[in-house]
Amino acid sequence: MGPVGEGESLILRVSSNCPWNQCLFCPFYKGRTFSIRTLPEIEADITVVLRTYESLEKTSWDMGFGGSVNRAVIDKQIKLSPVVYGKYPLEVTEAQWKAFRTLSNVANWMTHGARNVFLQDANALSMKPADLLHILHYLRKTFPSVEHISCYARSLTCDKLTLEGLKELHDAGLSWCYVGIESGCDDVLRYMKKGVSKKEHISGCRKLIDAGICVAAFVMPGLAGAEKRFADRHIQETIRVLNEIRPTEVRVRSLAVLEGSPLYKKWKAGDFTPPTEDQNVEELRRLIEGIKFDCSFETLQLTNALTLSGQLCADRGRFLKQIETYQELSLLERARYLLCRYMHEGYVECVRSWGLYDRHLNALIFYAVRGIEEEAGDAMERVERAVLTIKSKGIP
Ligand code: SF4
Repeated sequence: MGPVGEGESLILRVSSNCPWNQCLFCPFYKGRTFSIRTLPEIEADITVVLRTYESLEKTSWDMGFGGSVNRAVIDKQIKLSPVVYGKYPLEVTEAQWKAFRTLSNVANWMTHGARNVFLQDANALSMKPADLLHILHYLRKTFPSVEHISCYARSLTCDKLTLEGLKELHDAGLSWCYVGIESGCDDVLRYMKKGVSKKEHISGCRKLIDAGICVAAFVMPGLAGAEKRFADRHIQETIRVLNEIRPTEVRVRSLAVLEGSPLYKKWKAGDFTPPTEDQNVEELRRLIEGIKFDCSFETLQLTNALTLSGQLCADRGRFLKQIETYQELSLLERARYLLCRYMHEGYVECVRSWGLYDRHLNALIFYAVRGIEEEAGDAMERVERAVLTIKSKGIP
């Protein structure tokens, strides 16, 4: 899955898993080996996309839709190719299921103008620069409609590439890199085994920007845990690093201690205390106050207690007002807000859809709801426990 905002993109896999794979808070590729796909494999995927694109376009014209793709066109395409797609969704083999996923991916891409491509998995820039350059050229030659190509990138990897090499990638179409800064504090980065220092964050991201590539920097309130002094340094240093990098976008992803991550084990063993929601909101407030350059700024991921989105210089006052409104609520009102936020704005629904809504979580939520109804003195603690457990199930 790509970051928020990549829902219109064609997802093209150029590597599998993460070459670093050690961050304590991240469970995503643990136990899986990193590999870079070969050029013939990636070209073969692009050819499959081209064939799928052309057949959907032809079917659309045959049905009188003039080349545009809709549900009827997709259904017709499935019926026209029973060997490829099987009797979807009832009787399908693994290969037919994959073919259907490609069909959906390409159809979605076409409906959004076939303009954006997202290269996954975790660090596309770990490919040899000449190979990545070849793929960017090949992609744009095959699909002249492509305007933007984006990927996740580690700042350490960017730091090791030359400015000229990055400029070549930019000229070949690489327009956005999503970089997980998480923290600007070296002690936090070391503790979380991020494998990169504040200095490398700055020079890697600056190099991308100097090459003309836009950077979306992901930062993580709460990553230093509940200990106040450590948390203070985390947010102060993160602000400093962002002010040096001056990325095009800042995306806030408050910490979720996820089941399956090494950090979850530390939490359960009593070696890490997650932050409270109030603490995350306070770190968010300080971030907004501390950033001195203009950028687009968002907290759209559901792990954040508040949803903000806009251009920082123009919207700073509105953001701070929203935060102040939350912070001025009474403890019980904040607890009620948080429970509603995490229960009724899509998070719990996602947990259910993943099949991870279990009896333990149900009991925690029930206990939290009763705490609010009865205005119990420990209502906020009950809500915090439920919210931490909801978040531990995954990130929507
Ligand atoms: S956070 Fe990113 S770099 Fe760290 S292990 Fe996960 S995918 Fe790899």
